[in-house]
Amino acid sequence: MTETATKTRSKSEALYERARAVIPGGVNSPARAMKAVESDPLFIARADGAYLFDVDGGEYIDYVGSWGPMILGHRHPRVLAAIESELRNGTSYGAPCRLEVEMAELVGKLVPSMEMVRMVNSGTEATMSALRLARAYTGKKRLIKFDGCYHGHGDSFLVKAGSGLATLGISSSPGVPEEFSSLTVSIPYNDVDALNEAFEKHDDIAAVIFEPVVGNAGVILPEQKFLKALRELTEANKALLICDEVMTGFRVALGGAQQMYDIKPDLTCLGKIIGAGLPVGAYGGKKEIMERVAPSGDVYQAGTLSGNPLAMAAGLAQLQALREKPPYEKLTKITDKLAEKISEAASSARGPKVTINHVCGMISVFLTDEKVVDFDSAAKSDTTLFGKLWRALLEEGVYWPPSQFEAAFPSTMHSDKEIDATAKAFEAAFKSLS
Ligand SMILES: *Cc1c(COP(=O)(O)O)cnc(C)c1O
Repeated sequence: MTETATKTRSKSEALYERARAVIPGGVNSPARAMKAVESDPLFIARADGAYLFDVDGGEYIDYVGSWGPMILGHRHPRVLAAIESELRNGTSYGAPCRLEVEMAELVGKLVPSMEMVRMVNSGTEATMSALRLARAYTGKKRLIKFDGCYHGHGDSFLVKAGSGLATLGISSSPGVPEEFSSLTVSIPYNDVDALNEAFEKHDDIAAVIFEPVVGNAGVILPEQKFLKALRELTEANKALLICDEVMTGFRVALGGAQQMYDIKPDLTCLGKIIGAGLPVGAYGGKKEIMERVAPSGDVYQAGTLSGNPLAMAAGLAQLQALREKPPYEKLTKITDKLAEKISEAASSARGPKVTINHVCGMISVFLTDEKVVDFDSAAKSDTTLFGKLWRALLEEGVYWPPSQFEAAFPSTMHSDKEIDATAKAFEAAFKSLS
């Protein structure tokens, strides 16, 4: 056991108690409450590189990475310098600034399908706006999505949704009128037959939205024939294909999963890495479609803080760093090695059967021996055992995402030292389970 384990969590506990009195559940986003792993949240004081430091003096190897943005680790010098320098000019103008233009130009270079881009403030805003645009452009209403995929908390997407909803054992939310959810069809991921059937059954499909690599049900890789069917069926039925790369964008490859798998979407949503830890999202795509957005077109979408100079400075600095020295080969090696070592730890500890799915910068350890190809197979994992594993990992100084249905995000700052320590922690944690 590391020193961390002997430390108390009294300061986190006190903050959590105060938080619960004034913030619903004590957190500003549900997954942070750690209910699924029967733990209480650690309140974080600061972060650096691959590490998180909590208010009680604990130190943890971080695999949450702010849920995706921190591909280069925490406190990347270029990101900090860009924010510091921009900060001197002011914090927001409510008028255009140069950095927004640079951001849109750079996004278009890195993700060529995004001929035009609109900046927003979160992934949720990006997907909601893309769906409205798709509905306006096609003149149709219905949406197809996939079970266990998460596209933010917009009304239309809370049907068999992944991430925090799957973690809480729910898939939709009160407060979403039936009239809205009835326009969303959710079908199994990687299921070409179900996709064909959905198009046969409904002639009013405006769009299909998908995660090109699922992260929000844990990591699930797309099958090539599924990706092919997505493009062919949307085209044949005059529906738009919306590639939700809020998680995968700039993570699995510089040009996102669409570069890696040669996907040609009509619209793309971005978030997380594009803001380097500040609140940013973006949506974009074919010029002909994007020109329908106000004020060049009639589809209304706006934002008081959209294109905020500090957020643009931070995001641009991170994207420029990624472009100048693409870390994807390195990050792939890091992720591969992590997968290999965790798998070894599971067998040497005679631990539970595991299925590890991974791709550059994203990894999930499912506690099941079956292949995980969709939400139903992910849900065969032993989530109670996962909770035990998670708590044991925390005792060993590893801060893993507190849900079976989330991806873990290694960063470029996870060197051999952190990976070896993580493997040791997994071995000890697996041993503690039996
Ligand atoms: C995180 C995420 C979102 C939502 O982004 P927020 O910034 O949390 O609103 C949407 N889609 C995907 C694929 C995500 O991973």
